[in-house]
Amino acid sequence: MFDRIEIIRGDITQIKVDAIVNAANTSLLGGGGVDGAIHRVAGKELYEECKGLKGCPTGSARLTKGYLLPAPFVIHAVGPVWRGGTSNEKALLASAYQSVLNIAVEHKLASLSFPNISTGVYGFPKQEAAGIAVITVINHLDNHQWPQKVVFVCYDEANYLIYQEMLSGL
Ligand code: ADP
Repeated sequence: MFDRIEIIRGDITQIKVDAIVNAANTSLLGGGGVDGAIHRVAGKELYEECKGLKGCPTGSARLTKGYLLPAPFVIHAVGPVWRGGTSNEKALLASAYQSVLNIAVEHKLASLSFPNISTGVYGFPKQEAAGIAVITVINHLDNHQWPQKVVFVCYDEANYLIYQEMLSGL
């Protein structure tokens, strides 16, 4: 099982997997953080495809092509904004991860890389977000062949240390 999960520190736009995951917002029209970085590298065709999707609710995800990215596909997942923990944030974050995994099953995507959804501008506590991400992914991999491999791409050092500790303790 654990040879199917990897943690790396880096920039998700440079990772060559079947699909990279974007931490998008409900408009799917780009923003700051990892979303801005993905759109900058993918080019304006990604923006055009996203426009046609007409948004995505919080807790869900949508598949597009990757255009100029090394990865052929992008899965745009919308995590929740942290509002103190009493607005269903945990279930919505789990649902965002699960929606991505369901798309990987549907399209038989062998490898996925996730950023740390909602832990930037959206303010979700990093430790708690990592726990939700890891549990959702492990439960899924336990029961499914697809994706064969999941990479957690940590951009900031705090998340990288949290994920390393969490996966070494399993
Ligand atoms: P959100 O609005 O979901 O919080 P952000 O993009 O602000 O989205 O942050 C989500 C996570 O993405 C943060 O942990 C941030 O450090 C990380 N991040 C920012 N740029 C990149 C990048 N190029 N590659 C991977 N992760 C990134």
